[in-house]
This record gives sequence, structure tokens and C-alpha cells, in this order.
Amino acid sequence: MGKVKFFHICALNLSPLLRQLSDGEGQGAEVKKLNMKVYKFGGTSVGSPDNMRMVMKIITDGEQKLVVLSAMSGTTNSLLQISGAIASGEKENAAGIASQLEKKYEKVVSELYANEVSRQKAMAVVYEVFGLIRSFFDIPYTEKTEKVIVAQGELISTQLFTLLMVEAGFSTVLLPALDFMRVDDERAAYLPAIRTLLAELMGSSPEVDYYITQGFICRNPQGEIDNLERGGSDYTASLIGAAINSEEIQIWTDIDGFHNNDPRYVDHTRKIDQLSFLEAAELAYFGAKILHPQTVLPARVQNIPVRLKNTMNPSDSGTLITTESDGTGIKAVAAKDGITAIKIRSARMLMAYGFLKRVFEIFEKYKTPIDMISTSEVAVSLTIDNTKFLDQISEELLAFGEVEVDRDMSIICIVGDIITEETGFASRVFNALDGIPIRMISYGGSRFNISVLVPTAHKKSTLQTLSDKLLN
Ligand code: ADP
Ligand code: ASP
Ligand code: MG
Repeated sequence: MGKVKFFHICALNLSPLLRQLSDGEGQGAEVKKLNMKVYKFGGTSVGSPDNMRMVMKIITDGEQKLVVLSAMSGTTNSLLQISGAIASGEKENAAGIASQLEKKYEKVVSELYANEVSRQKAMAVVYEVFGLIRSFFDIPYTEKTEKVIVAQGELISTQLFTLLMVEAGFSTVLLPALDFMRVDDERAAYLPAIRTLLAELMGSSPEVDYYITQGFICRNPQGEIDNLERGGSDYTASLIGAAINSEEIQIWTDIDGFHNNDPRYVDHTRKIDQLSFLEAAELAYFGAKILHPQTVLPARVQNIPVRLKNTMNPSDSGTLITTESDGTGIKAVAAKDGITAIKIRSARMLMAYGFLKRVFEIFEKYKTPIDMISTSEVAVSLTIDNTKFLDQISEELLAFGEVEVDRDMSIICIVGDIITEETGFASRVFNALDGIPIRMISYGGSRFNISVLVPTAHKKSTLQTLSDKLLN
């Protein structure tokens, strides 16, 4: 057996945005520096009339702000079901889900407003949205159908909320995200355009205390409706924060901040008061659902603090994410599912140079990012989460030797400011993982993280044992 080398590929495949930001591309446009905070409220935060009223109470503190809203909780899933049913020709199923969802909105409208005029305006919004959704039942399904249907969740929540604010007498304007959020051909956010278009839109809108906009939705270079992928409203907020050079971005959700482990799978998790941008980015990329993986970068590049807060408990200070890392040691773990491991065993690797380059070129050709990699003298293992081109990639890799594919794996990412020699970090981690079938390890790529690959069936027990032995 040759000497085993481990290394970690930078997982954050965000270079187009980073390049735009660091080049200052687009900054030539006349941009007013706005000392305005950006607040984002997620699905649960706007998920009922009571919660919407709570959001109104939180934001109306007299300070001017820009507020990004998600769709009401459950809506995006239902819209995707409707679109899926249309795609598979199940029109009755689509109609049934649409009617149920429409009823939910009728109830929301009947409970949300104080007066009849607002109620009627809101009902008109609901009927228009559902009329549009139904118009797709009888025309051929295309990729655009799903994008337009799924956008309706944010379009409806922001209109209902704006009507609530106006009814309550607050000076409020709805800024349509479709007029300024842009992605490029690769569906990467295009900050220069966002910056310019948002500045124009705000410049031509009346100056108000509260600007409301939709998270998640955007337009692509063809001008079609598109989105920033699931959970993308967080990303909208940080892009807007970077575009207006905001003093702070606040992400309001249904938990009191970033926890040291995934509360959906592990008992007794604890809130973390402070994280660095790098730590938060690693955790978000490796599965901490509280933040969309791309959220950190725009804030980090412009050094805008990000605060995570709980809509249900606004007085809690939440988690603050800044440049600084607070102390050393292990801070948190997260898990990313849906990982596929690929092992390439090849005698041609032995003593050869240029081998890895040729392997990587295949992944590059199929635009498939690699998350983890470990090598020995005769084999290389790597992981991907996008399996769209797995068959083609495997086929081409066969030219090098044997190829073995393991699906249903999870990356467990352990994050902290780890000064290896001082803490004996690695031995503590390996002791904690005693008995867990580890398929790969990545350590040493940065001082912030160690990742292990385990079968997803062992994810929960791995997270729990790390909590029990390392974090508590
Ligand atoms: P929103 O709809 O407000 O965007 P999300 O459901 O996307 O909210 O994110 C919040 C949820 O993320 C929490 O309710 C929690 O279950 C989950 N979560 C996963 N990992 C973590 C973590 N490390 N810290 C806090 N919450 C986490
Ligand atoms: N509504 C979208 C979703 O459910 C975006 C978001 O909530 O961030 O994925
Ligand atoms: Mg979310």
C-alpha cells in the first residue's frame, strides 16, 4: 500500500460572483450607499396571519429597511407538486392540489386584514395567481412552466404582506424582485446587474420606510422567470445586502440561531453566539439548512455582518456571523446528504504525473463540482452531489481503470477554528467516531474543517455521537 494522502478541494464553487465582487465590476454604476439593514423572513415566519403580524411588529421600529420574504411555509412544495402533476399529465391531481392551496389562501386573507377593502384587494391577488396557475393545465408543459408556477409563492406572500403594512398605515413599497434579481447563463447570481437595476428601481420608487421584496425568484439572461434554488431567499437577502452595501443582513427564521448540530436529527443541540464567515460558509455548504449555502459569500466579500434571529423570540440575540472567529476548538457539525462516491483504481496512477489532472478534466467537462477527494498510489476516491452526468462521467473514467460508485452517502463536516497541534483535534475526532464505518476523510485543506464520508444510514448516529463526545 502506498502512502495515503488526503486533501480537500475548496467546496465553494462560487468564483463568478467572487470575481465580480472583487473586481468591482458593476460598481461604476451610480450607487447610493444606503445605510439600511436587510431583513429576511423565511417560510414559517410568514406562515400564518399571526406570524405575518409578528413580522410587521418586528420590522416597524422606525428604522428604514429592506425586507425580503419567502413563500408561506408549505407553499413552494405544493407548487412543485402542481407542476410535477402537470408534467406527468395528471391534470386532475394538479387541479386538486391547486384548489386546496387556494382555499388555504382564502382563509389567510379572511383572517389577516382589519377592513373589507384590503380583504378584497388581497382576494383579487389570490384569484389572479391561481388563475395563472390553472392556465398551465391545458398547454404543453415545458421547463418554464415549473419556474413560473414555483415563483407564485413569493409573489403572493409579498403582495399579501404589503397590503397588511399599507392597511396598518406604514409607508411601504413592494419592489418586484423580477425587475432586479438576475442570474447569468450558469444560473449564478449576476451582482453587477442586480446592483444597477436595484439602484434604478429604488431611485424611481417613492422614498418609504419599508421596502418589501421577494426572495428566491429572479430572471435569467433570456428574461425568463427563474430562481436561486430551494432555500434561496437567504441568498437573495445577502445579494441585496451586497448590492446596496447594507450595514447588516438579518436572517429571521424559526430557531434562535445557528446550532452546533442539526436539531432535526440530534437531541440537545446548542445555539452558537458567534461564527466567522468561513465557518458559517462551510456549515451551510455541508448541509446546515438554516442558511442557503451561497448566502455567506456576498456578505463576506463586502464585510457585512449577518445575524440569524428567531421570529418567535425576537429579543434573543441570535447568532452573529462576522470576519472574526470567536475562540478555538470545535464549534459545530453538519451533514450533507445525497452524496455519491466514485473510486477509480488504476495501475497507471503509480508514479505517474498528470493523472489527477486528466481525471478532473472529465468532471470539468460535465460541469460537475467535486466536494471531497482522497488518493493513494493506485486509487483515487472523490465525491459529487450532482449526479446528472454520472453515467457519462463513469463511462469516460473507465478509460483509466476500474470504477466503483457508492450512492446514498453523507458528508459529515466538523467545523471550528482548529489549531491542530494545540488541540489534538484529529485524535479527538477519530476517538469520537469509533465504530462508525467511515468511507473517506478530508483533513488539512483548511484550519476550519474536517469532513468524513459515511453511508447516509449512519448519518444520524454519527451526528449524535459527535454531539455527545465532542460538543457537549
Ligand atoms: P426558513 O424557512 O426560515 O428559511 P429553514 O427551514 O430553511 O427556515 O431553516 C431553519 C431550520 O434549519 C431550523 O428549523 C432547523 O430545523 C434547521 N437546521 C438545520 N441545521 C441547523 C443548525 N445547525 N442550526 C439551526 N438550525 C438548523
Ligand atoms: N420558498 C423557497 C423554498 O421553499 C425559497 C425559500 O424559502 O428560501 O425553497
Ligand atoms: Mg431557509
